[in-house]
Amino acid sequence: MTTSAELMERAVQVIPGGVNSPVRAYRSVGLTPRFIERADGPYVWDVEGNRYLDYIGSWGPMILGHNNPAVREAVVKACERGMSFGAATELEVEIAEFICSTVPHIEMIRMVNSGTEAVMSALRLARGFTGRDKIVKFAGNYHGHSDCMLVAAGSGVMTAGVPDSAGVPAGCAQDTLTATYNNLDSVRALFDENPGQIAAVIVEPVAANMGVVLPAPGFLEGLRALCDEQGALLVFDEVICGFRLAYGGAAERFGITPDLVTYGKIIGGGMPVGAFGGHHDIMERMAPVGPVYQAGTLSGNPIAMTAGFVQLKELHGHPEIYDRLNQAGERLFGGIAHLLEQYEAPCTINHVGSIGSTFFTPDPVTDYASAKTSDTEAFARYFRFMLDRGFALAPSQFEAMFISAMHDDAAIDETLDAIETFLKM
Ligand SMILES: *Cc1c(COP(=O)(O)O)cnc(C)c1O
Repeated sequence: MTTSAELMERAVQVIPGGVNSPVRAYRSVGLTPRFIERADGPYVWDVEGNRYLDYIGSWGPMILGHNNPAVREAVVKACERGMSFGAATELEVEIAEFICSTVPHIEMIRMVNSGTEAVMSALRLARGFTGRDKIVKFAGNYHGHSDCMLVAAGSGVMTAGVPDSAGVPAGCAQDTLTATYNNLDSVRALFDENPGQIAAVIVEPVAANMGVVLPAPGFLEGLRALCDEQGALLVFDEVICGFRLAYGGAAERFGITPDLVTYGKIIGGGMPVGAFGGHHDIMERMAPVGPVYQAGTLSGNPIAMTAGFVQLKELHGHPEIYDRLNQAGERLFGGIAHLLEQYEAPCTINHVGSIGSTFFTPDPVTDYASAKTSDTEAFARYFRFMLDRGFALAPSQFEAMFISAMHDDAAIDETLDAIETFLKM
């Protein structure tokens, strides 16, 4: 039998750090990553045959659980017709029509291959549309790894303790202005200092890459009002929240209409897909009708579109899935909150719907600075304890826990039992 340790030994010889995305390396929790062989429902199995109840869900996409039969069967069928054409297909029209008719604030959409690409392209569009160069982002919000977004980014950048990446030219970063999450004054100050120069404010409407941090009441409304007043576009990065917090994402859940939305993760059903969309006046500035260039050899790939389309149809056709996800979230995160109180743990928990984070800090976590007060050593101990007992959490304090529709009450209660055992120690 091959072990994860043996595979890691081979991997580091030929892949930097042994992984194709940094957080997978388990560095911040001091372990060898588990190499996964297969997944089904709420579970994943590693190459050694160990089963884990999975709270990563491929970082969000697997909202229906792993190996969903409808998605799998449609993908297998699609493969029989060829893997890629690099040409227009009926399927792309259908999925675009479907999203535009089911998400009220999306009138046109363009498919790409990742969340990173979606954000990069949406920001280029915002700049092309407004004729302005500067972008406001929030410290601790992660928008993928394009140059101009690797400034005060969350996610793996945060875990690695590298605030900015090497290789990002100062010229790229200088037009990215950083505000404080949940602090409208910090945004207003940037507009005051850069009059008529800010193309867009991009925000994770619920931040989920510095751990889960909720928007304070009035924060998103305030951003909407400021952008309107200043002629800037409001871009919701719904790569995690879209189709999760509600079918219409955070925009629907909080009742705020952004100008542009970026998608990823769930929209691909486990395949590499991203997308950006919004009002047709803005979207029609894209090539080939408009002057803003963007392209992709594999964009709208028929296999990827099939997986995404089937998953979206399952979600839209079954609104009770969202009720279940919300209930499951309440049971798990509400249960954790109760345990933290009962055992007087110096922790705090943030959650909404089916995502949440336990921070190893007693103080409220409302922004990047407060998230960073977490005791990451204590998190690592908790992570290792849970992994040993068959619960796969994201290997970082600064990532969310993701619940799928396949996590039943029994699975959640087992999780709570394990957490209680940890807190008792
Ligand atoms: C994951 C993520 C991205 C990047 O998506 P990739 O598909 O990994 O490129 C962008 N924004 C947010 C909010 C994300 O969570």
